Amino acid sequence: MKKKISVLIAVTLMCMAALTGCGSKQTSSADKIVFATNAEFPPFEFISTNGVIGEYDGIDIAIVKEIGERAGVEVEMQNMEFDSLLVALQNGQIDATIAGMTVTEERAKSVDFSTPYYTATQVMIVPEGSDIKAAADMAGKTIAVVQGYTGETVVQDLGFEYEAFKKGTECVMELVNGKCDVVVIDSATAQKYVSDNKGLTIVEDPDAFASEEYAIAVQKGNTELLNLINGVVEEMLADGTISELSAKYIDAE
Ligand code: GLN
Repeated sequence: MKKKISVLIAVTLMCMAALTGCGSKQTSSADKIVFATNAEFPPFEFISTNGVIGEYDGIDIAIVKEIGERAGVEVEMQNMEFDSLLVALQNGQIDATIAGMTVTEERAKSVDFSTPYYTATQVMIVPEGSDIKAAADMAGKTIAVVQGYTGETVVQDLGFEYEAFKKGTECVMELVNGKCDVVVIDSATAQKYVSDNKGLTIVEDPDAFASEEYAIAVQKGNTELLNLINGVVEEMLADGTISELSAKYIDAE
């Protein structure tokens, strides 16, 4: 019995050590900040031969570069599945995520969000000539969304059945190949897909789709890093850098 208890205590101590070692990764201002994204979300993040940080390009990557330069810290970009970002953050594998990520109540339970830097909304991508003119017209249609995106939640909340894919490009291919009738995805990304693929158009429905705010996420309680990030983000909002970046990557289409 005694032995069992001491084993239990040892295991508990090991768990605690593992937790503090791994779970409380605090970034001091002198350190490198490890960011992760999912580089499948143009114009916010995508792979390019001539990226802003290595092979990574887009509005979010340019923001990370500015954070590094303005705060005088080294920044690193990692790429992972969208669904893994918040888990990796909670585990302390990374310091922050920037991924066109919408602030939601659900997500805010597990991470802390920065000051939002971009306002978006869900839209519908349909083939030109589609009879879908509003969200309600999706009833009985084949709807494609990306798994884990807010687009999935929104369609779920509207009570429609849908098919979920891993990537936005997969949804768009389904649409181009006539295998689905509509894709629900974030506005700026939809704009990019429509300009890259002939025969597609965007349908908006502000009554059905609320506006969403994109923000950077850090581990819950990592105020030091959050303050550093907020300082730069707020400065970039005030001095026009964020609008310039949006213009460069979105309006240039
Ligand atoms: N804004 C959407 C979300 O937060 C999609 C983000 C993304 O694909 N990178 O779910």
